[in-house]
Amino acid sequence: MVRPSLVCPSCSAEKVERKEAIASQLIEEYYAENGVDVRYLFEDVSLLRRYGCEDCGLQFFQPVVLGDDRYYQAMQKGDWYYLEEKPEYDYVAKWIEAEERVLDVGSGRGAFSRKINSSFYQGLEFSQSAVELAAREGVNVITESVEEHAQKHQGAYDVVCAFQVLEHVAQPKTFLEGCIGCLKSGGKLAIAVPNSQSFLEWRRNYLNLPPHHQLLWSEKSLLKLAEVHNLEVVEIYKEKVSKIHRESFYSTLLLSLGDKTFLRRSLKAKKGSRFSSEGNAGGETTENPAAPKGLAHRAADLLKDCFRCIKLHRFFDGHTITAIYRKK
Ligand SMILES: [Zn+2]
Repeated sequence: MVRPSLVCPSCSAEKVERKEAIASQLIEEYYAENGVDVRYLFEDVSLLRRYGCEDCGLQFFQPVVLGDDRYYQAMQKGDWYYLEEKPEYDYVAKWIEAEERVLDVGSGRGAFSRKINSSFYQGLEFSQSAVELAAREGVNVITESVEEHAQKHQGAYDVVCAFQVLEHVAQPKTFLEGCIGCLKSGGKLAIAVPNSQSFLEWRRNYLNLPPHHQLLWSEKSLLKLAEVHNLEVVEIYKEKVSKIHRESFYSTLLLSLGDKTFLRRSLKAKKGSRFSSEGNAGGETTENPAAPKGLAHRAADLLKDCFRCIKLHRFFDGHTITAIYRKK
């Protein structure tokens, strides 16, 4: 039997390199520790493989294991999941004029609408609870895919944005074709995704794997998108470690330092609320003040305080990279 050849889901290049194989059991165990059952998503998958495209640098996983409604319902129980404030909101808001019509794909409850003063805001969101919350607050959010929306609203928007969405999508080409289809000629497309070349790459991050993230983006892969979709790159913005990710940054730093040292066990014991120290979703680490502190634990605290004191986070790329494109 001839195995079908793999191609990059973004740029269709055939030069892809296998980077890593990950036992799905490890992912299941991670989620189980955090109170989420994902075993049913991996029923036929024992091993995931991570590939890197040699052309555009995008990393992707095979086979595709997507999170379904049940999975995202369980994830949304963490109050960090739909953050009201994201640094990329402020950055993208600066590119939007008052009279412009804005489409926000994967809008959650439409928090971005409060950052802008546009004449028309339309959010698209699959989470029913987020759509209901938006309706209660008078924000215009509907349940529809961007591909469906594009069929009815070709060229209807001045700005299309997708905040922290493209990393969850297995078929970025059709998703982006939908976004671009909704834009008028000369309109702006804003894409904000986790920056895989930031502190997120320092150690394995289970939220950066399926069923959560499907694609790992970098500056190079975002630049290549412009070529694939005939867009002009207006600006690429790599934030430094932002306030909301600072705790995740320091936890990731200490854990990656601790991976080979005596700090490891103690730091692992420090893990507080679910998903908190994995450095991805922006949740603050919650520590249990009643937990006894060993010597290594105190040493880790001291080291963290030293890093904070010199504001080490200022020198590192942060969680998110945002690209602004213009439709030609
Ligand atoms: Zn590629």
